[in-house]
Formats: sequence, C-alpha cells, structure tokens
Amino acid sequence: MSILVHIAVLPHQQQDLDYILELALAEEKLRRDAISDWRIRKRSLDARRKPIKVNLQIELWPKPEKRESIPPFVPQNVSKAKRIAIIGAGPAGLYAALRAVEAGLKPIVFERGKDVRERRRDLAAINKDQIVNPDSNYCFGEGGAGTYSDGKLYTRSKKRGNVLKALEWFVHFGAEENILIDAHPHIGTNKLPKIITAMRQTIIDNGGEVHFNSKMTDLRLKESAIDSIQINHEEWFAFDDVILATGHSARDIFYLLHKKNIRIEAKPFAIGVRVEHQQQLIDYIQYHGEADNPYLPPASYALVEQVDGLAVYSFCMCPGGIIAPCATEQTEVVTNGWSPSKRNNPYANSGIVVSVAPKDLPNFKEGDPFVGLNFQKEVEKRCWEAGGKTQKVPAQRMIDFVEGKLSVDFPKTSYQPGIVSADLNEILPALLLQPLKKAFVAFGKKMKGYYTNEAVLHAPESRTSSPVSIPRDPQTLEHVEVKGLYPCGEGAGYAGGIISAAIDGINCVDAILEKTSKKGV
Ligand SMILES: Cc1cc2nc3c(=O)[nH]c(=O)nc-3n(C[C@H](O)[C@H](O)[C@H](O)COP(=O)(O)OP(=O)(O)OC[C@H]3O[C@@H](n4cnc5c(N)ncnc54)[C@H](O)[C@@H]3O)c2cc1C
Repeated sequence: MSILVHIAVLPHQQQDLDYILELALAEEKLRRDAISDWRIRKRSLDARRKPIKVNLQIELWPKPEKRESIPPFVPQNVSKAKRIAIIGAGPAGLYAALRAVEAGLKPIVFERGKDVRERRRDLAAINKDQIVNPDSNYCFGEGGAGTYSDGKLYTRSKKRGNVLKALEWFVHFGAEENILIDAHPHIGTNKLPKIITAMRQTIIDNGGEVHFNSKMTDLRLKESAIDSIQINHEEWFAFDDVILATGHSARDIFYLLHKKNIRIEAKPFAIGVRVEHQQQLIDYIQYHGEADNPYLPPASYALVEQVDGLAVYSFCMCPGGIIAPCATEQTEVVTNGWSPSKRNNPYANSGIVVSVAPKDLPNFKEGDPFVGLNFQKEVEKRCWEAGGKTQKVPAQRMIDFVEGKLSVDFPKTSYQPGIVSADLNEILPALLLQPLKKAFVAFGKKMKGYYTNEAVLHAPESRTSSPVSIPRDPQTLEHVEVKGLYPCGEGAGYAGGIISAAIDGINCVDAILEKTSKKGV
C-alpha cells in the first residue's frame, strides 16, 4: 500500500521536486532508496493568511510496492451493437457517447450546432458583427456550453470515484495530468477544442456516429415509451433509448415536451450580473498585498451572502478572463465568462447572482413550468433593448449602481461586443436589486477593496443553470412518464457544470445497460 504524507511549501518552492520529496521522506522518516516511486497527489493554495502556502499531499510507494498507472480508456468496436440516440454533444452527451463506446452500445449523437472548428466563425460573428446564429453560438455546438468556457473542472459532487473517472478521461484525450492533482483544476478555452475533437474521433473510429447541424425537432411516443425522434423537421429515426442532453438553453426542447404533454417542472435558478475588476486588484486583495508574486496564480474568489432570505453568490469566477456574449437568440443578451489556460488577461470577472425559487417570482402560478424561463427571457430582452438592440450589454459601475447614478465613463471592458451606460436599477427586476446592492456592500467588507467604482457590472448573467427540470425516476433515470427517455445533464436539472454533466452522461448510459441486462437483450 502507498503512504500519504501532507506537507506545506512556499509558492516559490513548489517547482523544486527534490526539496518536496526530501520533506515528505523526512516526515515519514524514510530514506530515498526505501521507496520505488512517488508523486504529488493533491495540491491546493492556502492564501487565507500570510505566509501564503501551497499544501501538498504526497504519495510514496515503499519498496516493493509499485505505482498503478491511470486506468486506460478501452473502447470496443460498436458498429454492429445496439443503437442509442444521444441528443446534444455537450459534456453530458459526449461522455454518454464515450461510455457507450466503452461499454458496447452504439451511440448516434445528434447535435444542432457545428463542429468546434466551424463554430469559431459564429463566435467571431457575435463578437464583431453582433450576429447570433440560433444553432451555433457560445452555448450550442460541439462540446456544448463547456467548449469555449473557462474549463474549470471542479464540482460539488461528492462521489470521488466518478469525478476521478471523468477527469481521467479528460487526461486520456489530451488534458494535462495536473487536473488530477489540483484542488481547483482548470483547462482553458484554448485547449478544450482539441480535447473535444479527440473525443469525437474516438467515438467515430469505434463505430459510433456524430451528426452536426442535426437538431431534434419532434418526438413520437408509443404506449408511454419513446418510439422515434425527428431531426431537422424532416427525417424520423426509431430508437428504444434516447438520452436528452440538450443543455440549459434549449428552450425549444422544453416547449416541445410541454406541447407533447411530457411533464416538465419549474425549478430554482440564479440570475444577476457579471462583474469585472482588474485582476491586479483581486490579486492584491486575495494575496494580502503580494500582487506581483510570480509564483502565485491569478487569484480567484468565492463569495456568498444571505440577503433578506435570498442567497447571493459569486458564480463561475474567471481569473484572467474575458466576459463572453452567450445569447442564443438575436433579440436577447446574456453574459458568462471564460479564460485561457494561462489566465493571463488583465481582468477578473464573475457572475454575482441571486438564487430565486419559482414561488419568489412575479406571475408565479402553481404548476406553471415556465415561470422561471419567462422571467429569465424578460430580463434578457430588457437588457437587449437597453443595450441598443445589438449584442452590446447595459453596464454600470458598482458604486453607481448601489447609489442609483448613471456612470459617465468606464474602464476598458473585456466584453468584445461593447457596453452601453445604463441605470441597471431601471432595467433589472426589483426582486434582484436590493439583494445585489446589499451583497456588494457586504462583499466589500469580506474582501477589502472589492466594493469599488472601478468594478463594472455587465447585465445580465442569466444562464447559470436551467430554470426548468425534466423529472426522471431516481433509479431507472428514465423520464417519470416516458420509458426510454433519459433526461440528462444541466438542461434537465441534473448537473451544474462540465464535470457533473459528464458524470450524468455516464450514469444515463449505465442505466440503459442495466435495463438491457435485466431484459436479457
Ligand atoms: C461561457 C461559459 C463558461 C462556462 N464555464 C464553465 C466552467 O469553467 N466550468 C464548468 O464546470 N462549467 C462552465 N460552464 C457551464 C458548463 O458549460 C455547463 O454546465 C455544461 O456544458 C453543461 O453540459 P450539458 O452537456 O448538460 O449541456 P450543454 O453543454 O449546454 O450541451 C447541450 C448541447 O445540446 C445541443 N442541443 C440543444 N438543443 C438541441 C437539439 N434540439 N437537438 C440537438 N442538439 C441540441 C446544444 O447545441 C449543445 O451542444 C460555462 C458555460 C458557459 C456558457
């Protein structure tokens, strides 16, 4: 058995592997020649106080123990295997397809958007020409909403084995092994497309299929079970099992299910603004004045505050990041954030969002699945109008927002389509205003310097999670009313990020396998 040792080093010592090994061996009173191998197993930064330290968990293998290598991903040739449909090639859909190929099912993936390379042109059109393609944008296309994201891979999921498997597959397809070690692993937008392409190639090389520009537009049931799906309003395909992994922005899927009398429900979600500070300021605050230490990564933050019974919290904080235009329709604006692997942009952005339950919302009616979605749409549309009906977003300096003053000028923004000065007090719903204002002031007390007029609010941050859930049986993972339909990932309400969506994709395929083995098919 290996031995785990906990040590702490200073940031400038973390590259000195000889020193690290020496410390770990001394801790265990072992000599160098008594071990066959070693590795850093976990790494986290402790910046709560000075001196800032790097906590390391070291794994030592005393002789004659041997280190096990990462379990390989072993695909099967599934060209003649039982077919399953996977709708959506986001993390949930891609991991479902990979699991199918590993376990001996033939995945047929239908993705409404384009492949990662083609998708880039549509992202450029949003940023430069203010044109949103409703099927190819920051949310839709190969890799899903995760492709041009920050690629932060941490999750609140407690099932360590599942998380590790999802991370190991990322490494198998090209991510750096560091993601297996870091407490807050991160890949970066520049590296994700290559990894996603490698995943797709493995699916196809082993007999699976991936179809782009292929939107599911209808479905048919037979005796409360899935019968067939329609693609692009044209062709129908029969399937016994359909994994529906269409993400939080596929509103047409929610409308379709509702029209077909397939149960969907309103669920809590969060909505607010995206805030941008200078990264140097965040480094200064978080690193107790050590803003220029070259051995420290660009600092992040996580903030939460209860205000008048509502939780206000930071969401998807991107150190060294860029604010992205994430609308999926021309007549709305939506922000989110991404960052490259080096996180070397001068800005720090984060969603600051208010968690709202359906019953908190105006127009709440018991049993109305669309109360949250309508609220979300209304906010996005009002911001679009205030931004001048382009992809520019309304913006306001932080203290100006709290004091109700229009901002007369702005520091440079990372949001490429541009910003328009507006009083967000007149645009955002009243429900969000006091919670956001009180939270900003409170955050300024927790992080001295955070509450500043140098920070700019970009509105809205509205796609943090799905405002609708598609209920499923907790055991079989099938829709509560439709056999063979597997609501999956973030859009269905079963994931909140890349890794949890990926794990949910694996789980849905495992549920199909279990059903198939019980039937003896
Ligand atoms: C800019 C940005 C940054 C983010 N940063 C992070 C981060 O750093 N870390 C993190 O964990 N999460 C991040 N997220 C969230 C993360 O991307 C999502 O949680 C995750 O992608 C959800 O996975 P999913 O597979 O469930 O859905 P999605 O990724 O949304 O994928 C759904 C897919 O289904 C397709 N689709 C939709 N409708 C249809 C249809 N009718 N027919 C066929 N295909 C359809 C879509 O085109 C899409 O490709 C970010 C999101 C954005 C937008």
